[in-house]
Amino acid sequence: MFDAILSSYSGTQISILQQIYRNHKITRAELTKATGFQLLTVTKTVSRLLADGLIVERDHQQSTGGRKAALLSINPDFRYTLAVDLGATCARIGVVGMDGSVLDFEIIPSKTRDGKMVLPAQHLSVQELREKLAAEIEKYGREKILGVGIGISGVVHTSTGQIIFCPNIAGWNDVDVEKELAEPLGVPVFADTAARCMALAEYKLGAGKGVENQVCISIGASVAAGILIGGKIYRGADEAAGEIGHTTVRTDGKRCTCGNNGCLELYVTLPMLTGKAEELLPGFGGFSPLRTALQGRGRPTPEELRAAAAKGDKLALRILSDCAETIGTAVSYLTNILNPTLIVLGGATIEQFPELVDDVARIAARRGFTVTQQHLAVRPYALGTTSAMVGAALQVIDSLF
Ligand SMILES: [Zn+2]
Repeated sequence: MFDAILSSYSGTQISILQQIYRNHKITRAELTKATGFQLLTVTKTVSRLLADGLIVERDHQQSTGGRKAALLSINPDFRYTLAVDLGATCARIGVVGMDGSVLDFEIIPSKTRDGKMVLPAQHLSVQELREKLAAEIEKYGREKILGVGIGISGVVHTSTGQIIFCPNIAGWNDVDVEKELAEPLGVPVFADTAARCMALAEYKLGAGKGVENQVCISIGASVAAGILIGGKIYRGADEAAGEIGHTTVRTDGKRCTCGNNGCLELYVTLPMLTGKAEELLPGFGGFSPLRTALQGRGRPTPEELRAAAAKGDKLALRILSDCAETIGTAVSYLTNILNPTLIVLGGATIEQFPELVDDVARIAARRGFTVTQQHLAVRPYALGTTSAMVGAALQVIDSLF
Protein backbone atom coordinates (compact mmCIF):
# COMPACT_ATOMS: atom_id res chain seq x y z
CA MET A 1 0.00 0.00 0.00
CA PHE A 2 2.80 2.43 0.86
CA ASP A 3 5.82 1.14 -1.06
CA ALA A 4 6.98 4.65 -2.00
CA ILE A 5 7.41 5.89 1.59
CA LEU A 6 10.06 3.33 2.58
CA SER A 7 11.47 2.57 -0.89
CA SER A 8 14.83 4.25 -0.25
CA TYR A 9 15.54 2.09 2.83
CA SER A 10 17.31 -1.26 2.86
CA GLY A 11 15.76 -4.41 4.31
CA THR A 12 17.99 -4.07 7.38
CA GLN A 13 16.92 -0.48 7.95
CA ILE A 14 13.26 -1.41 7.58
CA SER A 15 13.70 -4.27 10.10
CA ILE A 16 15.09 -1.80 12.61
CA LEU A 17 12.21 0.59 11.95
CA GLN A 18 9.67 -2.22 12.38
CA GLN A 19 11.24 -3.16 15.69
CA ILE A 20 10.91 0.44 16.93
CA TYR A 21 7.26 0.51 15.84
CA ARG A 22 6.40 -2.78 17.55
CA ASN A 23 8.13 -1.88 20.81
CA HIS A 24 6.78 1.69 21.03
CA LYS A 25 9.82 2.75 23.09
CA ILE A 26 13.19 1.08 22.77
CA THR A 27 16.86 1.95 23.36
CA ARG A 28 19.65 1.45 20.81
CA ALA A 29 21.09 -1.36 22.95
CA GLU A 30 17.72 -3.13 23.10
CA LEU A 31 17.34 -2.70 19.34
CA THR A 32 20.74 -4.33 18.78
CA LYS A 33 19.69 -7.26 20.93
CA ALA A 34 16.24 -7.61 19.37
CA THR A 35 17.39 -7.44 15.73
CA GLY A 36 20.74 -9.20 16.08
CA PHE A 37 22.44 -6.47 13.97
CA GLN A 38 25.76 -4.84 14.92
CA LEU A 39 25.51 -1.80 17.21
CA LEU A 40 27.18 0.31 14.49
CA THR A 41 24.49 -0.68 11.95
CA VAL A 42 21.75 0.15 14.45
CA THR A 43 23.35 3.49 15.40
CA LYS A 44 23.77 4.55 11.77
CA THR A 45 20.22 3.53 10.84
CA VAL A 46 18.79 5.31 13.88
CA SER A 47 20.66 8.49 12.89
CA ARG A 48 19.18 8.35 9.41
CA LEU A 49 15.65 7.60 10.65
CA LEU A 50 15.95 10.52 13.09
CA ALA A 51 17.20 12.85 10.35
CA ASP A 52 14.37 11.76 8.03
CA GLY A 53 11.79 12.42 10.74
CA LEU A 54 10.48 8.86 10.91
CA ILE A 55 11.41 8.39 14.55
CA VAL A 56 11.99 10.60 17.57
CA GLU A 57 14.17 10.37 20.64
CA ARG A 58 11.91 11.50 23.43
CA ASP A 59 12.19 10.00 26.86
CA HIS A 60 15.03 8.43 28.70
CA GLN A 61 15.03 5.05 30.35
CA GLN A 62 15.21 4.99 34.13
CA SER A 63 18.66 3.90 35.14
CA THR A 64 20.30 3.03 38.42
CA GLY A 65 23.61 4.60 37.48
CA GLY A 66 25.60 6.09 34.64
CA ARG A 67 24.15 7.72 31.56
CA LYS A 68 20.44 7.25 30.89
CA ALA A 69 19.73 5.58 27.55
CA ALA A 70 17.52 7.46 25.08
CA LEU A 71 14.24 5.83 24.10
CA LEU A 72 13.33 5.76 20.44
CA SER A 73 9.80 5.75 19.10
CA ILE A 74 7.97 6.38 15.84
CA ASN A 75 7.45 10.09 15.24
CA PRO A 76 3.70 10.58 15.86
CA ASP A 77 3.70 13.52 13.44
CA PHE A 78 5.54 11.77 10.59
CA ARG A 79 2.21 11.20 8.82
CA TYR A 80 -1.42 11.52 9.87
CA THR A 81 -4.16 9.01 9.25
CA LEU A 82 -7.75 10.09 8.81
CA ALA A 83 -9.97 7.81 10.83
CA VAL A 84 -13.68 7.25 10.45
CA ASP A 85 -16.06 5.38 12.73
CA LEU A 86 -19.46 4.87 11.14
CA GLY A 87 -21.89 3.66 13.78
CA ALA A 88 -25.64 3.82 14.17
CA THR A 89 -25.71 6.54 16.83
CA CYS A 90 -23.21 8.83 15.07
CA ALA A 91 -20.27 9.11 12.71
CA ARG A 92 -16.86 10.20 13.97
CA ILE A 93 -14.08 11.57 11.80
CA GLY A 94 -10.68 12.13 13.35
CA VAL A 95 -7.01 12.76 12.70
CA VAL A 96 -4.70 10.19 14.24
CA GLY A 97 -0.92 10.30 14.70
CA MET A 98 1.47 7.42 13.98
CA ASP A 99 1.31 6.37 17.66
CA GLY A 100 -2.49 6.13 17.66
CA SER A 101 -2.98 9.46 19.44
CA VAL A 102 -6.12 11.36 18.40
CA LEU A 103 -5.22 14.92 17.39
CA ASP A 104 -8.70 16.09 16.60
CA PHE A 105 -12.13 14.65 15.88
CA GLU A 106 -15.62 15.62 14.91
CA ILE A 107 -18.89 13.89 15.76
CA ILE A 108 -21.79 13.91 13.33
CA PRO A 109 -24.86 12.66 15.23
CA SER A 110 -27.49 10.57 13.50
CA LYS A 111 -30.77 12.25 12.74
CA THR A 112 -33.49 11.48 15.27
CA ARG A 113 -37.28 11.55 15.10
CA ASP A 114 -39.04 12.90 18.22
CA GLY A 115 -35.78 12.39 20.08
CA LYS A 116 -35.68 8.70 19.17
CA MET A 117 -33.07 6.83 17.20
CA VAL A 118 -34.06 6.05 13.62
CA LEU A 119 -32.80 2.89 11.94
CA PRO A 120 -31.25 2.74 9.44
CA ALA A 121 -29.33 5.68 10.91
CA GLN A 122 -28.73 8.76 8.81
CA HIS A 123 -25.61 10.87 9.31
CA LEU A 124 -23.19 10.87 6.39
CA SER A 125 -23.72 9.71 2.83
CA VAL A 126 -20.75 8.32 0.91
CA GLN A 127 -20.51 11.62 -0.97
CA GLU A 128 -20.62 13.71 2.21
CA LEU A 129 -17.86 11.62 3.79
CA ARG A 130 -15.79 11.91 0.60
CA GLU A 131 -16.15 15.71 0.71
CA LYS A 132 -15.19 15.88 4.38
CA LEU A 133 -12.14 13.67 3.85
CA ALA A 134 -11.11 15.68 0.77
CA ALA A 135 -11.23 18.86 2.89
CA GLU A 136 -9.00 17.27 5.55
CA ILE A 137 -6.52 16.06 2.91
CA GLU A 138 -6.45 19.57 1.48
CA LYS A 139 -5.87 21.03 4.95
CA TYR A 140 -2.86 18.83 5.83
CA GLY A 141 -1.54 18.25 2.29
CA ARG A 142 -1.80 14.89 0.52
CA GLU A 143 1.84 13.98 1.21
CA LYS A 144 1.19 14.28 4.97
CA ILE A 145 -1.77 11.87 4.93
CA LEU A 146 -0.85 8.21 5.20
CA GLY A 147 -4.35 7.05 4.34
CA VAL A 148 -7.89 6.69 5.60
CA GLY A 149 -9.10 3.98 7.97
CA ILE A 150 -12.82 3.27 8.25
CA GLY A 151 -14.55 1.21 10.90
CA ILE A 152 -18.17 0.51 10.06
CA SER A 153 -21.02 -1.28 11.74
CA GLY A 154 -21.37 -3.82 8.94
CA VAL A 155 -19.69 -6.67 7.11
CA VAL A 156 -16.68 -5.70 4.99
CA HIS A 157 -14.67 -7.74 2.51
CA THR A 158 -11.29 -6.30 3.39
CA SER A 159 -9.54 -8.06 0.51
CA THR A 160 -11.68 -6.29 -2.11
CA GLY A 161 -12.62 -3.16 -0.15
CA GLN A 162 -16.34 -3.86 -0.42
CA ILE A 163 -18.79 -3.02 2.32
CA ILE A 164 -21.19 -5.86 1.61
CA PHE A 165 -23.77 -5.64 4.40
CA CYS A 166 -24.67 -2.59 6.40
CA PRO A 167 -28.37 -2.64 7.33
CA ASN A 168 -28.15 -0.09 10.17
CA ILE A 169 -26.67 2.92 8.34
CA ALA A 170 -28.49 4.47 5.41
CA GLY A 171 -26.52 4.60 2.16
CA TRP A 172 -23.66 2.30 3.20
CA ASN A 173 -24.93 -1.08 2.09
CA ASP A 174 -22.94 -2.45 -0.83
CA VAL A 175 -20.30 0.28 -1.20
CA ASP A 176 -17.09 -0.11 -3.20
CA VAL A 177 -14.59 1.72 -0.96
CA GLU A 178 -11.82 1.61 -3.55
CA LYS A 179 -13.92 3.20 -6.30
CA GLU A 180 -16.00 5.56 -4.16
CA LEU A 181 -13.28 6.85 -1.82
CA ALA A 182 -9.71 5.71 -2.49
CA GLU A 183 -9.60 6.56 -6.20
CA PRO A 184 -11.20 10.02 -6.02
CA LEU A 185 -9.27 10.98 -2.86
CA GLY A 186 -5.92 9.72 -4.14
CA VAL A 187 -4.92 8.09 -0.83
CA PRO A 188 -5.17 4.48 0.38
CA VAL A 189 -8.43 3.69 2.18
CA PHE A 190 -8.92 0.63 4.34
CA ALA A 191 -12.31 -0.38 5.75
CA ASP A 192 -13.19 -3.06 8.28
CA THR A 193 -15.92 -3.91 10.76
CA ALA A 194 -15.93 -1.38 13.63
CA ALA A 195 -15.78 -4.09 16.30
CA ARG A 196 -12.54 -5.40 14.78
CA CYS A 197 -11.07 -1.90 14.74
CA MET A 198 -12.06 -1.57 18.40
CA ALA A 199 -10.44 -4.92 19.21
CA LEU A 200 -7.19 -3.87 17.54
CA ALA A 201 -7.12 -0.51 19.33
CA GLU A 202 -7.73 -2.12 22.72
CA TYR A 203 -5.07 -4.76 22.00
CA LYS A 204 -2.44 -2.21 21.00
CA LEU A 205 -3.21 0.70 23.29
CA GLY A 206 -6.16 -0.02 25.55
CA ALA A 207 -7.73 -2.49 27.98
CA GLY A 208 -6.23 -5.56 26.32
CA LYS A 209 -2.68 -4.32 25.71
CA GLY A 210 -0.58 -7.26 24.63
CA VAL A 211 -3.23 -9.91 25.44
CA GLU A 212 -2.97 -12.15 22.38
CA ASN A 213 -6.22 -14.10 22.72
CA GLN A 214 -9.07 -11.73 23.36
CA VAL A 215 -12.50 -10.78 22.12
CA CYS A 216 -13.82 -7.24 22.10
CA ILE A 217 -17.62 -6.97 22.01
CA SER A 218 -19.20 -3.73 20.88
CA ILE A 219 -22.74 -3.26 22.20
CA GLY A 220 -24.33 -0.14 20.79
CA ALA A 221 -27.30 -0.04 18.44
CA SER A 222 -26.09 -3.44 17.23
CA VAL A 223 -23.76 -6.06 18.67
CA ALA A 224 -20.57 -7.39 17.07
CA ALA A 225 -17.30 -8.85 18.23
CA GLY A 226 -13.70 -8.39 17.11
CA ILE A 227 -11.73 -11.58 17.66
CA LEU A 228 -7.98 -11.65 18.18
CA ILE A 229 -6.25 -15.02 18.06
CA GLY A 230 -2.50 -15.04 18.64
CA GLY A 231 -2.49 -11.24 18.35
CA LYS A 232 -4.04 -11.34 14.88
CA ILE A 233 -7.54 -10.35 13.86
CA TYR A 234 -9.58 -13.39 12.92
CA ARG A 235 -11.98 -12.56 10.07
CA GLY A 236 -13.33 -15.99 9.08
CA ALA A 237 -13.93 -17.61 5.69
CA ASP A 238 -16.41 -14.94 4.57
CA GLU A 239 -15.06 -12.12 6.76
CA ALA A 240 -18.16 -12.39 8.92
CA ALA A 241 -16.54 -13.83 12.05
CA GLY A 242 -17.72 -12.15 15.24
CA GLU A 243 -21.35 -11.55 14.21
CA ILE A 244 -22.40 -12.52 17.70
CA GLY A 245 -25.31 -10.04 17.61
CA HIS A 246 -27.17 -12.53 15.43
CA THR A 247 -26.67 -15.48 17.75
CA THR A 248 -29.98 -16.92 18.97
CA VAL A 249 -30.51 -16.26 22.66
CA ARG A 250 -34.30 -16.91 22.72
CA THR A 251 -35.45 -19.71 20.45
CA ASP A 252 -39.02 -18.38 20.55
CA GLY A 253 -37.92 -14.73 20.40
CA LYS A 254 -38.89 -11.79 18.22
CA ARG A 255 -38.11 -11.56 14.52
CA CYS A 256 -34.75 -9.93 13.76
CA THR A 257 -33.85 -7.83 10.68
CA CYS A 258 -31.50 -10.66 9.67
CA GLY A 259 -34.45 -13.06 9.24
CA ASN A 260 -33.73 -15.15 12.34
CA ASN A 261 -35.70 -15.10 15.58
CA GLY A 262 -34.47 -14.18 19.07
CA CYS A 263 -31.07 -12.70 18.14
CA LEU A 264 -28.84 -11.29 20.91
CA GLU A 265 -29.07 -7.74 19.59
CA LEU A 266 -32.85 -7.73 20.06
CA TYR A 267 -32.32 -7.76 23.85
CA VAL A 268 -29.24 -5.76 24.83
CA THR A 269 -28.87 -2.63 22.69
CA LEU A 270 -29.85 0.79 24.04
CA PRO A 271 -32.97 1.14 21.83
CA MET A 272 -34.06 -2.33 22.96
CA LEU A 273 -33.57 -1.56 26.67
CA THR A 274 -35.50 1.71 26.53
CA GLY A 275 -38.16 0.05 24.34
CA LYS A 276 -38.58 -2.69 26.91
CA ALA A 277 -39.12 -0.09 29.63
CA GLU A 278 -41.83 1.55 27.50
CA GLU A 279 -43.49 -1.81 26.87
CA LEU A 280 -43.47 -3.03 30.49
CA LEU A 281 -44.07 0.15 32.47
CA PRO A 282 -47.89 0.33 32.00
CA GLY A 283 -48.28 -3.13 33.55
CA PHE A 284 -45.82 -2.49 36.36
CA GLY A 285 -47.37 -1.62 39.73
CA GLY A 286 -45.84 -0.07 42.83
CA PHE A 287 -43.03 2.38 43.43
CA SER A 288 -41.57 3.63 40.14
CA PRO A 289 -39.23 6.63 39.87
CA LEU A 290 -39.25 5.91 36.13
CA ARG A 291 -42.99 6.54 35.86
CA THR A 292 -42.62 9.76 37.84
CA ALA A 293 -39.75 10.94 35.60
CA LEU A 294 -41.59 10.16 32.37
CA GLN A 295 -44.80 12.03 33.32
CA GLY A 296 -46.86 10.19 30.75
CA ARG A 297 -44.22 10.04 28.01
CA GLY A 298 -43.80 6.53 26.60
CA ARG A 299 -40.16 5.71 26.09
CA PRO A 300 -37.42 6.82 28.49
CA THR A 301 -34.04 8.03 27.28
CA PRO A 302 -31.07 5.84 28.30
CA GLU A 303 -30.20 8.56 30.85
CA GLU A 304 -33.67 8.38 32.39
CA LEU A 305 -33.43 4.59 32.60
CA ARG A 306 -30.06 4.93 34.28
CA ALA A 307 -31.33 7.54 36.76
CA ALA A 308 -34.32 5.36 37.63
CA ALA A 309 -32.07 2.34 38.28
CA ALA A 310 -29.89 4.49 40.55
CA LYS A 311 -33.04 5.36 42.56
CA GLY A 312 -33.87 1.68 42.99
CA ASP A 313 -36.60 1.46 40.33
CA LYS A 314 -37.41 -2.25 40.26
CA LEU A 315 -38.39 -2.36 36.59
CA ALA A 316 -35.23 -0.53 35.47
CA LEU A 317 -33.11 -2.85 37.61
CA ARG A 318 -34.84 -5.91 36.22
CA ILE A 319 -34.29 -4.73 32.63
CA LEU A 320 -30.58 -4.24 33.36
CA SER A 321 -30.19 -7.56 35.14
CA ASP A 322 -31.91 -9.37 32.23
CA CYS A 323 -29.54 -7.54 29.88
CA ALA A 324 -26.48 -8.68 31.89
CA GLU A 325 -27.82 -12.24 32.00
CA THR A 326 -28.26 -12.29 28.22
CA ILE A 327 -24.84 -10.77 27.45
CA GLY A 328 -23.18 -13.00 30.06
CA THR A 329 -24.73 -16.08 28.49
CA ALA A 330 -23.55 -15.03 25.01
CA VAL A 331 -20.07 -14.38 26.43
CA SER A 332 -20.03 -17.90 27.88
CA TYR A 333 -20.72 -19.30 24.36
CA LEU A 334 -17.78 -17.30 23.04
CA THR A 335 -15.42 -18.29 25.81
CA ASN A 336 -16.36 -21.97 25.53
CA ILE A 337 -15.57 -21.91 21.80
CA LEU A 338 -12.50 -19.64 21.72
CA ASN A 339 -11.09 -19.85 25.27
CA PRO A 340 -9.73 -16.27 25.29
CA THR A 341 -8.02 -14.75 28.33
CA LEU A 342 -9.86 -11.46 28.00
CA ILE A 343 -13.27 -10.17 26.98
CA VAL A 344 -13.41 -6.40 26.46
CA LEU A 345 -16.86 -4.80 26.47
CA GLY A 346 -17.50 -1.46 24.79
CA GLY A 347 -20.08 0.58 22.94
CA ALA A 348 -22.99 2.84 23.86
CA THR A 349 -24.71 0.32 26.17
CA ILE A 350 -21.54 -0.09 28.24
CA GLU A 351 -20.92 3.69 28.21
CA GLN A 352 -24.37 4.22 29.68
CA PHE A 353 -24.39 1.23 32.04
CA PRO A 354 -20.75 0.46 32.98
CA GLU A 355 -21.84 -1.66 35.94
CA LEU A 356 -22.98 -4.29 33.41
CA VAL A 357 -19.33 -5.34 33.00
CA ASP A 358 -19.01 -6.91 36.47
CA ASP A 359 -22.43 -8.57 36.18
CA VAL A 360 -21.53 -10.01 32.76
CA ALA A 361 -18.24 -11.34 34.20
CA ARG A 362 -20.10 -13.05 37.03
CA ILE A 363 -22.72 -14.61 34.73
CA ALA A 364 -20.15 -15.72 32.14
CA ALA A 365 -18.13 -17.38 34.92
CA ARG A 366 -21.24 -19.18 36.17
CA ARG A 367 -22.44 -20.34 32.76
CA GLY A 368 -19.12 -21.02 31.02
CA PHE A 369 -17.20 -24.29 31.20
CA THR A 370 -14.87 -24.16 34.21
CA VAL A 371 -11.64 -24.76 32.31
CA THR A 372 -12.34 -22.08 29.68
CA GLN A 373 -13.14 -19.57 32.43
CA GLN A 374 -10.19 -20.14 34.74
CA HIS A 375 -7.97 -17.38 33.33
CA LEU A 376 -10.70 -15.17 31.91
CA ALA A 377 -10.98 -11.48 32.72
CA VAL A 378 -13.85 -9.22 31.57
CA ARG A 379 -13.08 -5.50 31.36
CA PRO A 380 -14.61 -2.33 29.89
CA TYR A 381 -12.81 -0.80 26.94
CA ALA A 382 -10.17 1.78 27.86
CA LEU A 383 -10.22 4.04 24.80
CA GLY A 384 -13.94 4.70 25.07
CA THR A 385 -15.84 6.26 22.22
CA THR A 386 -12.66 6.88 20.19
CA SER A 387 -11.68 3.20 20.29
CA ALA A 388 -13.06 2.13 16.87
CA MET A 389 -11.68 5.29 15.25
CA VAL A 390 -8.18 4.70 16.65
CA GLY A 391 -8.34 1.05 15.58
CA ALA A 392 -9.39 2.01 12.06
CA ALA A 393 -6.30 4.26 11.86
CA LEU A 394 -4.05 1.55 13.33
CA GLN A 395 -5.11 -0.86 10.59
CA VAL A 396 -3.67 1.62 8.08
CA ILE A 397 -0.56 2.47 10.12
CA ASP A 398 0.19 -1.23 10.75
CA SER A 399 0.28 -1.89 7.03
CA LEU A 400 3.14 0.61 6.59
CA PHE A 401 5.32 -1.46 8.90
ZN1 LIG B 1 -30.43 -11.27 13.76
